Amino acid sequence: MNKKSVIALAGNPNVGKSTVFNALTGLRQHTGNWPGKTVACASGSFFVQGQEYILTDLPGTYSLAAHSAEEEIARDFICSQEPDAVIIVCDATCLERSLSLALQIASLTSRGILCVNLLDEARKKGISIDCTLLSRLTGMPVVPCAAARNEGIQELARQAALMCQSPPDSPPGIAAPPDSPSETAALPDMAVPESDEEKAAALIRRAERIAAQAVACQTADYHERDRKIDRILTGRRTGLPLMLLLLTAVLWLTIAGANYPGILLSRLLFHFQDILLVWADRAGAAPWLRDMLILGVYQTVAWVISVMLPPMAIFFPLFTLLEDLGYLPRAAFNLDHIFKKCSACGKQALTMCMGLGCNAVGVSGCRIIDSPRERLIAILTNSFMPCNGRFPMLAALTAIFLIPAAGAGDSGMGTLAGALILALVICLGILLTFLVSWTLSRTILKGFPSSFTLELPPYRKPQAGRIILRSILDRTLFVLGRAAAAAAPAGLFIWLLANTEAGGMTLLSRITAILDPLGRFMGMDGVILTAFILGFPANEIVIPAALMCYLSAGTLIQIEDYAQLGQIFAANGWTGATAFCVMLFSLCHWPCAASCMTIYRETGKLRWTLLSILIPTLCGFILCSLAHHAAMLL
Ligand code: GDP
Repeated sequence: MNKKSVIALAGNPNVGKSTVFNALTGLRQHTGNWPGKTVACASGSFFVQGQEYILTDLPGTYSLAAHSAEEEIARDFICSQEPDAVIIVCDATCLERSLSLALQIASLTSRGILCVNLLDEARKKGISIDCTLLSRLTGMPVVPCAAARNEGIQELARQAALMCQSPPDSPPGIAAPPDSPSETAALPDMAVPESDEEKAAALIRRAERIAAQAVACQTADYHERDRKIDRILTGRRTGLPLMLLLLTAVLWLTIAGANYPGILLSRLLFHFQDILLVWADRAGAAPWLRDMLILGVYQTVAWVISVMLPPMAIFFPLFTLLEDLGYLPRAAFNLDHIFKKCSACGKQALTMCMGLGCNAVGVSGCRIIDSPRERLIAILTNSFMPCNGRFPMLAALTAIFLIPAAGAGDSGMGTLAGALILALVICLGILLTFLVSWTLSRTILKGFPSSFTLELPPYRKPQAGRIILRSILDRTLFVLGRAAAAAAPAGLFIWLLANTEAGGMTLLSRITAILDPLGRFMGMDGVILTAFILGFPANEIVIPAALMCYLSAGTLIQIEDYAQLGQIFAANGWTGATAFCVMLFSLCHWPCAASCMTIYRETGKLRWTLLSILIPTLCGFILCSLAHHAAMLL
């Protein structure tokens, strides 16, 4: 066989498709316990007996009716690409739901393989599945799996390879005939259904009958525990307060835990800076070159690392833990009715959660929203969620200025106050999202909210080891790498601006002087606005850029911790009110370069991209100016 065989991976959302994909290919697709996470096709490959097989992960869908973009992608791939095998991943804890899609796929291709995943969860819930019977009833090979534990993956690869090698045989849609009269339940309904709805209903009935035969449950209602928890976590009175409490707890852990490692890291990195300076002098490097590379490039990168790494290394695993547990759709559920009031879609809450990680990802994630109008609203408002580039800056400024007297937040109360302030800032972002969504849906994006089904997945025990590893490798180090890559040229650029004179003034002083009146009107100064502009490639570098600008004017101060950082800012006229305005402007200003590019790609229109820049910037301008003038009055 010379041609590489192509295998499609299909299934409902949240059945473990990405986990199966990763287990088979060794790649690292993002996994998470909520439906709608995979919105695009990913490709990878695996080998069986030296032969390479290409595996394409299709977006999770409940049907192939082509009602949504994901359904269209999945259907088109199966119908027009004619893959050599289609692995249909099913949820063993909820087989009947997965089976209706499986039967639909079986009506399009005879090359389906059922992968009954999450078998470990099913076992815990007292559910057992007769895979031999299931195979007979559906006419497809069945492989039991627990992908998260790598159970059954080799057998799945072997079955997929077998399917690819088998010649095109039985015509699509003809399942193997049942062996016994009791299995006739699996036969398609005898009356030929007319409409699409009738066909869908017939498939669901057939799936239910197959599941009733192949699945045995020890406990009558194994979802009872989940329902009990849901009554509290999504209750009318308890849902929102608990959400706020959880957010504050996560932020408290982040601030409390980040302080000490932050100090250690910065000591280490700045100690190394001194060594670098000595080495450079010994090597006889020209002073301008030494300063440019060490005080320009290295220092900025060191700052980005010591300020960003500790909070990220704590926040991301905690957030991933909630994601894996299945909490995110519950948060979306709690916010759903408010979004409805804004004539927007409740799924927007999920895209906001993604935005809390990275706004570019959040914007791509808006594809889970079917209505183009609501999708646009979600895209235009996503930047109100502080992404991980802005989050450490908010945490640092809270710790420096807004935790009274506690300096670096080493007192328990100070840390709690910091967490509350940070939670309030994020809530302000959520409030702005509601306000702008409401305004948009009553002006340029008029319309009624569409109806949709938000599936609450079962709670699953998070895989702690994998979470820590993945969130540190995939998120923390990735973001840090991106930040450092943007910080290095920015550091160089600022150093050049600060050391190039024109008309008796450095270029940096000229730029900051021009922006100063506007900055001061908004409660900040020209340096901060310049730093925000320089931070367009990556928000992470705003604070280091501001520091570079301040420090380039005077002698370099060794910065050891948040308290010393606070002293530098205070020496340049910062007060608590300045820090608050900077935090406000960081919460709402233009999206970063990567997000802008994603918005353009997703909307295909320059005008929406420009609007996505204009809306938050205008909000930031208004809020900062109001806050500044209110502070002056007080
Ligand atoms: P997808 O949306 O279908 O791609 O699903 P994911 O691969 O993201 O998995 C959804 C959730 O189920 C994640 O939290 C996974 O860690 C979890 N998961 C996937 N497969 C298994 C499994 O075999 N056992 C258990 N216990 N959890 C699993």
